[in-house]
Amino acid sequence: MAQPAGAPAGQHPYTNGPVQNQLMHSPDGQGYSPAVPGSYSHQMPNSAAVSSAGSFPPGASPPVLSNWQYSQTPVSQPLGAQPSHLARVPGTGSAQPPSSLPGSTNPAGSYQCAASPGAPPLHNSYMKPGPAPPPVTQPLTPLHPPRPPLGPPPVGGPPRPSPAAGPPSAQSVLQSAASQEGDARSAASDVSVVQNSYDAIEGGGLMATPHHSPATSNVKMNRSVGYSYPALPPGYQHTSPPGAPGMNASALQYPDGTKHFHQPALGTNHLTASMGGLSLQQEGLRPVNLLQERNILPTTLLKAPVPNLHEDIQKLNCNPELFRCTLTNIPQTQALLNKAKLPLGLLLHPFKDLSQLPVVTSSIIVRCRSCRTYINPFVSFLDQRRWKCNLCYRVNDVPEEFLYNPVTRVYGEPHKRPEVQNATIEFMAPSEYMLRPPQPPVYLFVFDVSHNAIETGYLTTVCQTLLDNLDSLPGNTRTKIGFITFDSTIHFYSLQEGLSQPQMLIVSDIEDVFIPMPENLLVNLNENKELIQDLLKTLPQMFTKSLETHSALGPALQAAFKLMSPTGGRITVFQTQLPSVGMGALKSREEPNQRATAKDIHLTPSTDFYKKLALDCSGQQVAVDLFLLSGQYSDLASLGCISRYSAGSVYYYQSYHHKHNPVQVEKLQKELKRYLTRKIGFEAVMRIRCTKGLSIHTFHGNFFVRSTDLLSLPNVNPDAGYAVQMSVEESLTDMQVVSFQSALLYTSSKGERRIRVHTMCLPVVTTLSDVYLGADVQAITGLLANMAVDRSVSATLSDARDALVNAVIDSLAAYRSSVLSIQQPGLTAPFSLRLFPLYILALLKQKAFQTGTNTRLDERIFTMCQVKNQPLVYLMLMTHPSLYRVDNLTDEGALNINDRTIPQPPLLQLSVEKLCRDGAYLMDAGSVMFLWIGKNCGQGFISQVLGVPNYGSVPQNMTHLPELETAESIRTRAFISWLREQRPFFPILYIIKDESPLKSSFLQNMIEDRTESALSYYEFLLHIQQQVNK
Ligand SMILES: [Zn+2]
Repeated sequence: MAQPAGAPAGQHPYTNGPVQNQLMHSPDGQGYSPAVPGSYSHQMPNSAAVSSAGSFPPGASPPVLSNWQYSQTPVSQPLGAQPSHLARVPGTGSAQPPSSLPGSTNPAGSYQCAASPGAPPLHNSYMKPGPAPPPVTQPLTPLHPPRPPLGPPPVGGPPRPSPAAGPPSAQSVLQSAASQEGDARSAASDVSVVQNSYDAIEGGGLMATPHHSPATSNVKMNRSVGYSYPALPPGYQHTSPPGAPGMNASALQYPDGTKHFHQPALGTNHLTASMGGLSLQQEGLRPVNLLQERNILPTTLLKAPVPNLHEDIQKLNCNPELFRCTLTNIPQTQALLNKAKLPLGLLLHPFKDLSQLPVVTSSIIVRCRSCRTYINPFVSFLDQRRWKCNLCYRVNDVPEEFLYNPVTRVYGEPHKRPEVQNATIEFMAPSEYMLRPPQPPVYLFVFDVSHNAIETGYLTTVCQTLLDNLDSLPGNTRTKIGFITFDSTIHFYSLQEGLSQPQMLIVSDIEDVFIPMPENLLVNLNENKELIQDLLKTLPQMFTKSLETHSALGPALQAAFKLMSPTGGRITVFQTQLPSVGMGALKSREEPNQRATAKDIHLTPSTDFYKKLALDCSGQQVAVDLFLLSGQYSDLASLGCISRYSAGSVYYYQSYHHKHNPVQVEKLQKELKRYLTRKIGFEAVMRIRCTKGLSIHTFHGNFFVRSTDLLSLPNVNPDAGYAVQMSVEESLTDMQVVSFQSALLYTSSKGERRIRVHTMCLPVVTTLSDVYLGADVQAITGLLANMAVDRSVSATLSDARDALVNAVIDSLAAYRSSVLSIQQPGLTAPFSLRLFPLYILALLKQKAFQTGTNTRLDERIFTMCQVKNQPLVYLMLMTHPSLYRVDNLTDEGALNINDRTIPQPPLLQLSVEKLCRDGAYLMDAGSVMFLWIGKNCGQGFISQVLGVPNYGSVPQNMTHLPELETAESIRTRAFISWLREQRPFFPILYIIKDESPLKSSFLQNMIEDRTESALSYYEFLLHIQQQVNK
């Protein structure tokens, strides 16, 4: 058997020694270590640091520096320990599990829908039945009897149940909204809430008076407050946000309003028993002997498992593309989770582009008074006037206004409101959710113009793409733009109105950079468009004769930060080499001969300069996106910090050259276009809440953890993914379900403050078999990949690799010893985890974690960035590519999209065994595609699709399919375009033959085959089996 590279000779590579398995085990027996030590696992700052780090003093650099270091000591922050996050209000039982409520006499476990006597049954809950009415300790507001439907509301406002509750004028609504917040404040007065920070805004909904400009100064701030229900459309718009392109008029209406909001009268029990006897579920637990069943790869892309909830609940649940959990059956206790040896965590794609997004414009946003959860489909209505929070169980009043449903125009149906019918929803936030008037969109571009940069020719492509898309930059009349270029000095461009041409200002003191004429460097895009266009047209020629080889990236970034600080916004940096002068200068650390050892490779930053600057940026609502275009080592491990901690993105174009590497030029053009025109959210924060008892402890992605669990995202984009790890802090006794809610508060490019909320509900289970039954193998693989990046950085690559392997060994061993009743020979996995060993092997062969000499350091680091920052769907594609045979495409089972027919060939296993010499195969590895042409490939395909007479005349470096009008060509191109359209980056297509130099890259992705440094899938299974049966 081949030894995996990286293992010391003579020593077994995958021993269960004390060190190897730290990814999965913590010393205290709590299963997954709350915080894997490492620079990616963001530690929570202590509470004293919260106020300073969280505050937002205008114009000043926030004192976050004491706060950014990572402690090696894991700090686990239980949900309940954060006062502003989950307050226990004495006497209400709000933070107690339902079983402790007085008046509940039934035994634990039998949950039913019930309503208090006398009230109409409002079934939207998992409530216990009981003879007594559900208890509330705060005085009830006088119960208005349910009113008959009032018909269409008068233009300009809803029906008014009582004069006091109605919104007769903008001003009174403002007051009532304020008093509502006042209520919340008094209810939370016994908890210490950090004021004047985004923590308070998202977490507490408090007015941040010191930094709060008068609402009257900004018309937009009043808009959603003043008119609770605009006459037309009626308050609720089922629509993409205004920034989304291509929105048609019909999307402004609820296409199927009545059907969509149909609330069935649910039966006595919303939930099937956890082992409901569904055949699908039983299939999930069927033992699969992996050594015998070799064809386990499904022929279509694997879907997320469906949580075992009653269908009426499940149909309201969040789309797994946006929000999913590694275990769709949540173990009741940490002990049970530990036994399963699987990681518990969430994977999020919170700002994904959506074709349909309900947007609520309402004067009130109903949230739990204790834990600030947004009302959602999984809360319980005790009656019309009270709802119980599904995260902390506090009973809250239903505000008068919420009783009216503007969709159905019926009064008295709070459970039919869109907020309670949609797991994904967006609110227009009133002024309470602002610390300052929403910032304008501000874009600053920073270009490397050193000799090396000019050589690559990138500036021509970038300036032209910018020119082409200038009018498509998301924004409004307030949009500002500016440009900086740098080599060994820094160059600013005055775009002042009245100038006949842009004026260049050179600052050569890079030790203490100052900003000349700051008021003319960031200018209004619309008012100065001609000057801006002039500059973009002339920039590529301005430095063609430059011989300056040095790069002062650090000082240029400092200047950019200074320029952006007053407003916040986005800095886009293009860099082509190792920065060599001024602050942040770096030295080469790559030693090609040591690439193979997987030891002492430089995955950690060599300076904290970029991280510190990123945190300064984060404090001023500035994000930095890095485009690295380089043929040489540029120390992405250090440079990448500027984006990681400021919530930016990293793009990498290895060996970019305008002549020598034309496919990279196309890739840059396409990806830059997407980057420039995609939706953007400014000054954002995100918080993830979960039901009491569960605790979130480690975050993965590009952001800074501002306070405890509030992620600071100066920019948020629709292509970013996040992951979190969780533990079961307190046993989830008596709970049938738990919920998770993410709330993303951001400023749109139109200057609106918005909140996007996703809520997911999952069942709780008590047996190990149920935990395995609900395992989501892709989510598990994705979370483990994130954890392994941390491990690689904090320890070594081989530690991370060992930990990945041990994750498979431990979970399959636990399944074998604790779930399987009959010990079978072979290697047995539950059906739900049948792809687990394959996916882990794929991770080991992926550029981030592979051993061997052919991975350059920056390339490895970039892949690690992608693991951390990509949504799960793309991470899976780059880990385990999709392989299709494409020389025999048919229309059978094809999709029809906009008059295009998209063939859907079956997926093939990643092994050369599956390739026939007479076929052609497309491998889709996410950011790259290979079209492999077999030596005996049919003449039809070669001439009809490739447009050449025979195999021998297929060019060596072919990267495009000719646009032939043959049916075969149309089908093939439709399929490839469709795959490309699914993602925000642009995969290059390489057409390869047996003798192509890129054939080795293609074969590297044949996960199931052995390579010179890695096991075949079968060998890997044998190794796992040996360890499991120990
Ligand atoms: Zn709550």
